[in-house]
Amino acid sequence: MNYIHKTVLDLKHSSPAQTEFYQAVEEVLDSLEPVLEGNSNYQRQAIIQRMVEPERQIMFRVPWVDDEGNIQVNKGYRVEFNSALGPYKGGLRFHPTVNASIIKFLGFEQIFKNALTGLPIGGGKGGANFDPKGRSDGEVMRFCQSFINELYRHIGPTTDVPAGDIGVGAREIGYMFGQYKRLTGRYEGVFTGKSLLWGGSLVRKEATGYGAVYFADYMLNARGHSLQGYRCLVSGAGNVAIYAMEKLYQMGAIPISCSDSSGTIYHATGVDLPLVKQLKQQQRTHLERYIEVHPDANYTPVADYPSDGHAVWRYSADAAFPCATQNELSKTDAESLLANGCHLVSEGANMPSTHEAVNLFIAAKIAYGPGKAANAGGVATSQLEMAQNASMQNWSFEKVDQQLQQIMKNIFVTASDTAKEFGQDGNLVTGANIAGFRRVADAMIEQGIV
Ligand code: GLU
Repeated sequence: MNYIHKTVLDLKHSSPAQTEFYQAVEEVLDSLEPVLEGNSNYQRQAIIQRMVEPERQIMFRVPWVDDEGNIQVNKGYRVEFNSALGPYKGGLRFHPTVNASIIKFLGFEQIFKNALTGLPIGGGKGGANFDPKGRSDGEVMRFCQSFINELYRHIGPTTDVPAGDIGVGAREIGYMFGQYKRLTGRYEGVFTGKSLLWGGSLVRKEATGYGAVYFADYMLNARGHSLQGYRCLVSGAGNVAIYAMEKLYQMGAIPISCSDSSGTIYHATGVDLPLVKQLKQQQRTHLERYIEVHPDANYTPVADYPSDGHAVWRYSADAAFPCATQNELSKTDAESLLANGCHLVSEGANMPSTHEAVNLFIAAKIAYGPGKAANAGGVATSQLEMAQNASMQNWSFEKVDQQLQQIMKNIFVTASDTAKEFGQDGNLVTGANIAGFRRVADAMIEQGIV
C-alpha cells in the first residue's frame, strides 16, 4: 500500500465521518505523487501524516439569549491547522451546515492557499453552526460576544488572526473585535476584514471576487484571449459573487446569473448589479425580488433545480465563476457547462466543484482555476491589512489593488510553472497543490519535529 493511500485510510479511521475533509485531503494528496516520489525526505519526515493533522482544534459551547428571552446554544470551532509559514490565518463561517468536517476541509485548503500567496501566513479556520439569517442586530451581537468570550484566549495578532467567510461580514467582525478589545484591553489587528473606520483595509471587501476575475484574466491571457465580451455565469450573491460581477463588468465581460439560498437569477442582458447589492447588502432579502424589477429575467427556485445539480450551470456561457459554497457544481453540471461551450472556470468559493467535476475540467483542458489559487485574493489582502495595522498605516485603494493584482499574477505563474515542471502543462490543480505543499513542507522540515 503506498504512503498516500495509507495516510488517507488512517485518517478515515482516526477522524470518522468527515466527508468534506477527506475530499479536500484526497484532492491535494492525489496531486503530490510526483513530488513525493522525487524526494524521499518528505516521507522520512512523515510530512503528509503531520500535515493532515491540525496542530490544535478548539470546540466550544456558545450560549446566548435570543430576542424572546430563550436560551440558544451553538457549537463554536477554531482549527489551528498549520503555523509553519506564519500565524494561523483564515476566516470564520457562521452557517447552519458548519460542523467539524466543514471547518477542517476549509482549514486544510487554507494552508495551501495561504502558502501560494507567498506571504507569511499559516492556515486555520473556524466558525459556528449559527445562522445569522433572520436574526436581529442585537441577537447577532450577543452571539458574537459569547463566541469571543471563549475564542479570545486562543487568538492574537501574532498567533491566530481570524477574518470573515460565509455569514461573517463587517457587522460580525465589528461585534467580535469589540468584545475582544473589552476582554483583553488591547486595540490590535487581531481580525481582518475590519471596518474602514477603525483599521480595515481598502479593497479587502472586494478582494476575493476581484482576485478570482484577475486570475481568470491571467489564465486567458496565457492562452491568447481576454475577458472582453465574455458571457459569464456566476453563482452566489454574497461578497465574493458581487465583487466578481463588479470586476467582470469593469473588464468588459457580462455576468448573466447569480444565486442565493432561495434560487437562481438568469438575466441574458446582464445582471443589474446595483439592484443585487441593494437586495443582498442593504435589505438582506431574497433574490426572488429581482424579477419584480426585471420581469424579463428568469428566476428558478431551489425546489425546481435539477436533482443532480444546480440550475445556474445549465445555461450556456463562455465562463463560470462558482462563488457560493462547497460542492455546488456536480459532475452533471460540469458536463452541461462543457457541452454548452464553457471554456473557463475560476473558483471564487472554496472547493465548489466536486472531485468528478474537477476531473472533467482537467480532461477537457479548459482554463480551470481551483479555489485555493483563484480565490486567494481575499486572504492575501487580509495579510495586506495586517501589514498596514502593524505599521500603523493606511494604504490607498490603488496601492492595495495593485498588490492584489501582482499577488494573483504570481500565484498563476507559480501554479502554471510548477505544473509544467511536473509534465502536466496547464493543470493548475497539480501546479497549485505541489507549489503550496513544497513551501509548507520545506518550512516544516527546517523547523524540526514540532
Ligand atoms: N474566508 C476567506 C478565505 O476562504 C478569507 C480568509 C482571511 O481573510 O483570513 O480565504
